[in-house]
Amino acid sequence: MKRAMRLRDKMTFLYTGLTLLAVLAFSALLYLSVQAILEQILVKNTQLALQQIIAQMEADDGALVFENEVPVSADTMYFITEANGSELASHGADITLFDALPMAPGAVRHVQGAGKTWALLDSDVIAVEGSSFRVRVATSAELNLRVLSTLRLGLLIGIPFMLLIAVVGGRLIAERSLMPIRDIIRSADRIAGGDLSARVPQTAARDELGELTATLNRMLQSVETSFIREKRFASDASHELRTPVAVMQAYAENLRAQPDATRQQKAELDTILAECRRMNKIITQLLTLTRGDEGRHPVLMETFDLREVAGGVADTLAERLSQRGMSLSIRMPEGTWLTADQSLMTELLLNLTENAVKYGRQGGHIDVAASRSGGDMVIRVADDGIGIPAEALPHIFERFYRVDDARDRSGTGLGLSIVDWIVNSHRGTVSVESEPHKGTVFQISLPAGAPEGAQASTAQAPRG
Ligand code: ADP
Repeated sequence: MKRAMRLRDKMTFLYTGLTLLAVLAFSALLYLSVQAILEQILVKNTQLALQQIIAQMEADDGALVFENEVPVSADTMYFITEANGSELASHGADITLFDALPMAPGAVRHVQGAGKTWALLDSDVIAVEGSSFRVRVATSAELNLRVLSTLRLGLLIGIPFMLLIAVVGGRLIAERSLMPIRDIIRSADRIAGGDLSARVPQTAARDELGELTATLNRMLQSVETSFIREKRFASDASHELRTPVAVMQAYAENLRAQPDATRQQKAELDTILAECRRMNKIITQLLTLTRGDEGRHPVLMETFDLREVAGGVADTLAERLSQRGMSLSIRMPEGTWLTADQSLMTELLLNLTENAVKYGRQGGHIDVAASRSGGDMVIRVADDGIGIPAEALPHIFERFYRVDDARDRSGTGLGLSIVDWIVNSHRGTVSVESEPHKGTVFQISLPAGAPEGAQASTAQAPRG
């Protein structure tokens, strides 16, 4: 997928584009203005030279006399002829270059000669005491052209330099002004990752971004507060339900034990007791999860032999395994040392193996294995049961999610959520592979903590 342009680059691009436009417009205006002013000066100088020459003409005994040398600049040439065309005076050798050009009094013309550009001005026929004459003046435009070419060179070097300053400056400005936004994105990422206590660093600036961060932080505070309140409510509600269920269970057991209870009453009381046990299980599991959410569930790290824990779990399940004619094998090396919370690891293995019994094949087999892989302990619980449909796999760790209520009535839909919480509280990962009617494999990877072959030791540290 094509990557969208970053805001910083967009701002730099826009800033540079606008600067380039402004610089080009300014340069063009400057160049055209200088060109027009220089042209005006050239025309004025040519006209002035012509007037000065005319002012120097006198008649002496009917003959025209050009009184003084006109103090024209080295760049100006002139040529004075009598009415009959004979030359009276001239200045500048190159003026003869224009001999072929017919006289055209009036406006200044630009002509080429001797590799230069000239401003050429011809006078009308002027009469002085009965005699008449004409003047042609040519002023070199070279100085103007040199000034303009220097200006062009200056702009050619100056424009890229200004552009470079615009790019670097624009990038720096964009970088600086977007810094608080990057902080906001980082904080939002942390919040999206589940850390509701994260806050956006407050900038000292009292600008729009300062206001935005303050507003975001206020919003996050209120979200966190209501989230904490909700978690506390779920945890309190589970806790409050414990006693009434225990009382109901005690009375039902009492009634069930009465000698005069009829068969029908006993059957009904058995149903009540089964539901009480199920409710008790839900409440206990909910308490584990809600306390975990609140960070109030202790996670006590100690180093123990996972093989022994798995052995204990297998003993607990022995009766249910034999009821279903199933077998369970534990494949773990002697002394499979793991640093984790032992009671939580017991619960994790129990939840997975109980599921393997419930959803396993009648007369099937369950395999519980663990081995070290690098610094991790990899635990595998596999069965050859009914499996999980592919569309249900992404949901099985969700709270109260059950693939199909009809598959097993005793389930709560919370067992795998607890497995997920235990794995997360140990900074581990859990994955599942399943094929309907073939079987299911749960794989858990945990940081093993203690080195292979370590002796049992206790290193207690509350976590989570
Ligand atoms: P439950 O108490 O219903 O077993 P869990 O959270 O332990 O709840 O499991 C969620 C759902 O995942 C179960 O309802 C079941 O459908 C499915 N499931 C879990 N483990 C297995 C397994 N080993 N084989 C087949 N399905 C399983």
